[in-house]
Amino acid sequence: ASAAFKRNFASSAKAPRLLSGRTLAPTVNHNSSAGLKILAVLYKGGEAAKQEPRLLGSVENQLGIREWLESQGHEYIVTDDKEGPNSVFQKNLKDTDILITTPFHPGYLTRELIEKSPNLKLCVTAGVGSDHIDLNAAVERNIEVLEVTGSNVTSVAEHVVMSILLLVRNFVPAHEMIERGEWQVSEIAKNAYDLEGKVIGTLGAGRIGYRVLERLQPFSPKELLYYDYNALPEAAAKQVNARRVEDLKDFVSQCDIVTVNAPLHEGTRNLINADLLKHFKKGAWLVNTARGAICNAEDVAAALKSGQLNGYAGDVWNVQPAPKDHPWRQMKNKYGGGNGMVPHYSGTTLDAQARYAAGTKQILENYFKGKPQEPANIIVGRGKYETKSYGQR
Ligand code: NAD
Repeated sequence: ASAAFKRNFASSAKAPRLLSGRTLAPTVNHNSSAGLKILAVLYKGGEAAKQEPRLLGSVENQLGIREWLESQGHEYIVTDDKEGPNSVFQKNLKDTDILITTPFHPGYLTRELIEKSPNLKLCVTAGVGSDHIDLNAAVERNIEVLEVTGSNVTSVAEHVVMSILLLVRNFVPAHEMIERGEWQVSEIAKNAYDLEGKVIGTLGAGRIGYRVLERLQPFSPKELLYYDYNALPEAAAKQVNARRVEDLKDFVSQCDIVTVNAPLHEGTRNLINADLLKHFKKGAWLVNTARGAICNAEDVAAALKSGQLNGYAGDVWNVQPAPKDHPWRQMKNKYGGGNGMVPHYSGTTLDAQARYAAGTKQILENYFKGKPQEPANIIVGRGKYETKSYGQR
């Protein structure tokens, strides 16, 4: 197997090894690295951060890098206040050199904000998925965008498998019934199925999609399918017994369960809308832990109501935090179930936080020392996309 195969598709237990790759990109030292202003937008930990110091991704615990950064003479500003021109994020951005963001509480770096941030040279995503940054604008401005590739892909793949199971087995309404003090087996069983014998497809078969396929195989599905413009290496597809379907409508029409594992970019935004949902099998289940805006919120809620979808689950929303009246909070299928939505946390387990905090530090250290970055971490390099995952260019 090739090195690329091993790096991307080798057994999931090896995911953290993605952080210590051997072949390094020949980037140049273009930084003077003393006294930089570094701004991080992280989520508020509140009481939980006091109880659990391993919540490294929180404002309180600051990715565990404050002392290290300050000991090197850098200024480090950490905030969760990210909306509007008077937010700590937007006010500090104007003279920030390095911006650290996380997909869980995204500081949306728009083209307009990039234009107002003349010093900005590097964006680091603590996690995976940098769509909250206008990547085309970053390319034009020569701003590098790096993420901690692989840091939470196993965490998400596990969440996907859990979400598929809880929808197919009708778990959430069953548990709610128990909490209400009731007991009516038939009410739950009338919409509960086995995963065995179903056709399951992943839209996007990269690090997460592939790990989902790996984890689903032992459930003896009827077939595993994938849709991706980047074909899996033959050996990788064979290993999980997955068949590629090249037409999207054809792909969704064959699946009992669709899981979305592609980044958000021009080619995936609003991709799953009323038009495409018509081509799904009636009563299919849809799981999306990739990005909320890949699915049209109203169209998904309507498909659940009409029975075109039997269930929808995931942890990603088109705006985060999701407003109280977001349709995905309350939407239900005709039986009053079929909703497996949670806040965005699948990739921020304590295990994942340790990996993406360490990976963020490593990226910064490389930058300060002018050392080459791990190639897989570079989404946007100097003036160009380095990844093949954000659309065919
Ligand atoms: P990856 O780069 O390894 O794989 C992405 C795959 O999607 C690639 O193979 C790419 O070719 C494919 N793809 C892109 N556009 C496509 C399209 N239009 N149709 C079909 N396939 C397409 O990335 P990954 O590590 O597997 O992560 C995927 C995404 O999952 C991230 O970009 C991020 O948005 C999301 N994610 C979510 C969480 C979470 O906590 N919920 C955590 C990590 C990542």
